[in-house]
Amino acid sequence: GHSAILERQRSRESSARTYARSFPIVPARAEGMWVEGVDGRRYLDCLSGAGTLALGHNHPVVLEAVRRTLDSGAPLHVLDLATPEKDRFTDALFATLPSGFADKARVHFCGPTGTDGVEAAFKLMQTATGRRGILSFGGGYHGMTAGALAASGGVTTRTPVPGIAADVTRLPYPYPYRCPFGVGGDQGARLSATYTERLLDDPNGGVVPPAAMIVEAVQGEGGAVPAPDDWMREMRRITAERDIPLIIDEVQTGVGRTGAFWAVEHSGIVPDAMVMSKAIGGSLPLAVLVYHEDYDGWLPGAHTGTFRGNTLAMAAGTATLEYVTEQGLAERAAVVGARMTERLNALRSSLPAIGDVRGRGLMIGVELVDPDAEPDACGARPVDPRTAVQVRTACLERGLIVELGGRFDSTVRLLPPLIISDEQVEAVLDRLTDAIATVTA
Ligand code: PMP
Repeated sequence: GHSAILERQRSRESSARTYARSFPIVPARAEGMWVEGVDGRRYLDCLSGAGTLALGHNHPVVLEAVRRTLDSGAPLHVLDLATPEKDRFTDALFATLPSGFADKARVHFCGPTGTDGVEAAFKLMQTATGRRGILSFGGGYHGMTAGALAASGGVTTRTPVPGIAADVTRLPYPYPYRCPFGVGGDQGARLSATYTERLLDDPNGGVVPPAAMIVEAVQGEGGAVPAPDDWMREMRRITAERDIPLIIDEVQTGVGRTGAFWAVEHSGIVPDAMVMSKAIGGSLPLAVLVYHEDYDGWLPGAHTGTFRGNTLAMAAGTATLEYVTEQGLAERAAVVGARMTERLNALRSSLPAIGDVRGRGLMIGVELVDPDAEPDACGARPVDPRTAVQVRTACLERGLIVELGGRFDSTVRLLPPLIISDEQVEAVLDRLTDAIATVTA
């Protein structure tokens, strides 16, 4: 039963267990936004496999695609050989790519998880440019392997191990609420761009000649922080003028979540590469690197891996990509997300522990602060990680799964599936509001 399973897990699994520590749930069944434990308790899932489940749990079109593939006798593992499933997935994927990028794009099927795509992107660009350095951003998150971890911006518990960040130059992300320049808003974003440009041109700036810049159009683990579109356009200009390839990490933002199919589309820029994972596999592990053909300088075998063509993931992914497009779920994410963000913002006057509400589409952050502390120059009060942990627990007690992120894990992140119904929106807002009100009363 429930407790025995949790106890065995506690004694046998690595101490790095994270979600399992915060959510003492033993899921037995799940459907759409619902997760049900072996103890029969039901939860609304606003974590969605860290943003993986665009269509929620066990969506009929995903199950049908997996069943059909299993019944067809297709080989489930073929290394990187061509299969009808891979062919269909590639078609579906290319149909979603931003205009100006699709016609010259190449896809590399990576190992099964997002960090593999990030490593492939770095290596590809290092090969293509003959340079080593990586430009990345404070608060960014790109994965757990050495390169991806080094490029991550020190997201609390996942702080890079000392010594591996040597070739990375970390730049200030335009985070208006906690602006690194202390001014916030558009002015802060402009200063971030100016600083970046000057640093790159400063012979004494100590920047390792960059092979690439990697950026999230909306930081996910960093606390659902959207970059202004103008700032994204500035990054495109700055990198293009210096012949630095621009990689967009769409691992968490992709497949409709931010209100566009890919978050990079909001700014209209054309990147040199995009890393995709999570939702593209329709609940199953899949990661790809898509890049401009000019960078295709790898020799055959230059970047391999055993699990790079999972047939079931391709089938589930194709069904997901097609369904999101056919049903206009990106547009729906934009509308529903705006409504949720607006409603949460309106709570700020009655619940002063809510310091900031932000996001794009269904990638929403509610940053919790100490309401009694003095605000800084941007109006931000100090983060309140203790309250955040209590709110997460209080949400769970009310049947709502939410995860934390951002500075010192003080931001409640909402990543509901794109198929969230209007009634579920109300239930999520009610439960979260009640949790924050109770904890901070
Ligand atoms: N990039 C981003 C933006 C992510 O959010 C994540 C995972 N949260 C990763 C990369 C790494 O992906 P994975 O955990 O699948 O390795």
